[in-house]
Amino acid sequence: MNEITTGTHVTDAEPALACARAPVGLLAELTHRCPLQCPYCSNPLELERSNVELTTAEWQDVIRQAAALGILQIHLSGGEPTARKDLEDIVKVAAEVGLYTNLITAGVLLTKERLKGLADLGLDHVQLSIQDVDAANADRIAAYKGGAAKKHEVAGWVKELGLPLTLNAPLHRQNIDSLERIIEYAVEIGAGRLEVAHIQYYAWALKNRAALMPTREAFMKTVDIVNRAKERLKGILVIDFVVPDYYAKFPKPCMGGWGRGVMNITPSGRVLPCHAAESLPGMSFDNVRDRKLAEIWLDGDAFNKFRGTDWMKEPCKSCSRREIDFGGCRCQAFALTGDAANTDPACSLSPLHDEWAKVAGLESHETPPDFIYRRVGGAKVVEPAGE
Ligand code: SF4
Ligand code: SF4
Repeated sequence: MNEITTGTHVTDAEPALACARAPVGLLAELTHRCPLQCPYCSNPLELERSNVELTTAEWQDVIRQAAALGILQIHLSGGEPTARKDLEDIVKVAAEVGLYTNLITAGVLLTKERLKGLADLGLDHVQLSIQDVDAANADRIAAYKGGAAKKHEVAGWVKELGLPLTLNAPLHRQNIDSLERIIEYAVEIGAGRLEVAHIQYYAWALKNRAALMPTREAFMKTVDIVNRAKERLKGILVIDFVVPDYYAKFPKPCMGGWGRGVMNITPSGRVLPCHAAESLPGMSFDNVRDRKLAEIWLDGDAFNKFRGTDWMKEPCKSCSRREIDFGGCRCQAFALTGDAANTDPACSLSPLHDEWAKVAGLESHETPPDFIYRRVGGAKVVEPAGE
């Protein structure tokens, strides 16, 4: 949900402030409100309430500061960003200052008129998430009846309006068998890009790991399916494939490296180096209500904490890959080892890697437990709405 889409940059907002070290992208979590309840949601377990959200004027100010800093792209996300009634006012300013504006949406709250209005205001791109191509399974995963059908309709509107479309399909053991059909579906609806990301296990997904973890054999099949599809669909569909950490040899450079390319702002204005960073204890995060965005990016404690490689311990410290993957994910390192400065156990060089991979092997072969659905106060097993 948080992928960066390449765009153009034509801002003329305070160009003198543009910073060579500026992040490429800003992930703006406009709200944590969302009618869906995906059990792998990357939002924190403690969701922010609507009464603490930044106001329209505050978001507009942040967007102007982002353009002045030299940021190129804004990803309007959530929760569900279309739950904000002032989305139009936010998109308008983003377009005015020349940011490439991407709407990351589950689609279920949109109308055709609203989408057209957003396109007229300068929206550049839509990233639509799906849970599965099997509508009943999709609605079960999201705990939202009729969601799959609505998303199909929205995809049609996006194409009718001539907007580029990315389909986002998080993959896990409860939809993994649909991968081939998901790829065909992306072609059928005219998406230019398909993001097939195996779930990353933190926040809600960590709570639901046993329900979501695919077997190694099932994962290996997806590698083969994606490789064949990439070859077959050259020039028709770009497929971005994110492998599950538990079956990887080396970790991913989380967020392209801490404090290197992306910044994330929560609904209440806290500025994070990654959307899960609030799970780390002892960190303090600046708020756009108190400090300028450029200062936070360049000098904020949270951004400098794990920036670069000086903070590393062995084996990362002397590893030749340290500037390739930056030691992996800090949040995962903390969640699984208790120390955010440890090597991410996704790395085969971590002393904890084998033990960790074993857990994945065991969980993925057991009967999956019920989902713990994402909702305020929802970190307990409950039946989905409407069942
Ligand atoms: S992952 Fe699901 S629940 Fe979370 S914001 Fe996206 S659509 Fe909503
Ligand atoms: S030891 Fe650290 S730097 Fe080296 S590959 Fe593993 S995570 Fe990356």
